[in-house]
Amino acid sequence: MSRLQNLLPQRRLHNQASNQKSSQLNNKLLILNALRHQSRSRAALADMSGLTRAAITGLVEQLIQSGLICETKPVTVKAGRKPVLLSIRPDYASILSLNLSRRGSAVGLADFSGNIISSRKLHDINPDNIASATTHAVNALLAENNVVSRRILAMGITAPGPLDRNEGVILNPPEFDQFHYFPVAETISRAFKSAFPVYLENNAAASAMAEYYMGCAAQFSHFLVLTVDSGIGGGLYIDHQAYSGLNGFGSEIGHTSINYTGPLCACGSRGCVERYASIPQLLSFGRLNWQKWLAELNQTSFSDDQSQRNLLNLSDMKEPPASWKEIIDRAETGDCLCKRLIQQEADFLSIAMINIKNLLEPQAIVISGDIAYKPAIILESMDQSVNGKGITRNIQHIKLLASTLNLDDGLTSATALVLQHQTQNEELLRSK
Ligand SMILES: [Zn+2]
Repeated sequence: MSRLQNLLPQRRLHNQASNQKSSQLNNKLLILNALRHQSRSRAALADMSGLTRAAITGLVEQLIQSGLICETKPVTVKAGRKPVLLSIRPDYASILSLNLSRRGSAVGLADFSGNIISSRKLHDINPDNIASATTHAVNALLAENNVVSRRILAMGITAPGPLDRNEGVILNPPEFDQFHYFPVAETISRAFKSAFPVYLENNAAASAMAEYYMGCAAQFSHFLVLTVDSGIGGGLYIDHQAYSGLNGFGSEIGHTSINYTGPLCACGSRGCVERYASIPQLLSFGRLNWQKWLAELNQTSFSDDQSQRNLLNLSDMKEPPASWKEIIDRAETGDCLCKRLIQQEADFLSIAMINIKNLLEPQAIVISGDIAYKPAIILESMDQSVNGKGITRNIQHIKLLASTLNLDDGLTSATALVLQHQTQNEELLRSK
């Protein structure tokens, strides 16, 4: 028998053991995350996870012993035993967050559920004053909320990419010159005398974590968050982990091309989806075509009632819309040209989404940003395009959802970054 053959069974055993360990960790994570969204009984957890009642009971016991979850009051039911509900323990630990943004920076304090309890804006911060400004704001938040003595789990920092998440360094994001090549994680960690871990992540990847831990993507292990507002960004979540690339550049979905002969983009490529489907670009597309579309509409021979109703609205349609909100509101009142713009947006985005679908097989796509305003119409249009095309169209249906989180201040995403690191930490999930 060769040396290699000798080694094989051992390796298989090791893999089996490591698979079991990682599967137990994933199952604990699944329970913890399910309870982060709402209190549930053991039976409900078993139904939701597909695990046996016995397996759930064992895992729940370990999580209770770790102090991460607790039993709460029983649910009243008409007959039979009253199931005891399980909840996450918000007081288990506090989570700090720091978001550095071109639109203004802030620090936040959250409980272990991920709810932001309190936050403070940081004004005019730069590499010279960020340490003192952050410690001052954090100390004030802790004192105001009477959590000085509670354990701090970690601080999550989010910033525009590119950044080096492993080294905790912001690299050279455009229009963020003052923080170029700034070792933010080390600076903040030193300011707090290394009292807790500090993590750095780019804001798009962290937004995917927020959807997983606090938003609508809890039940998915593979999904994409597509943020559409003044630009287009995206966060990928693959196998229960946010994917942010080797250096934390994240997934630059806005700069995937949907037309190789299209307009030149600042990134050097042609036809990037951001050049078509960011909200300012779509509004510009509408302005460019509006008079032509109105003329086409005037020449259309109307035969049915719906079209007649659209004709009656023509006087309200003379001006092109000035925002995504206006596009949606007008489409709801029957403005067929605004509906046309929504369909156009869905078509632009769907080309990029089908590429992602063919490459990565996500279970869901979550839209966020300005485009998530009253999302039913755009979701329906995108659903038809994304699920009606692609090599797996007959066997795979991707769920399209809209974010319900307010991620504007970046603090929810930075809090989720801590949950991502800490709740996958074997030490934390280990029973005491
Ligand atoms: Zn580009």
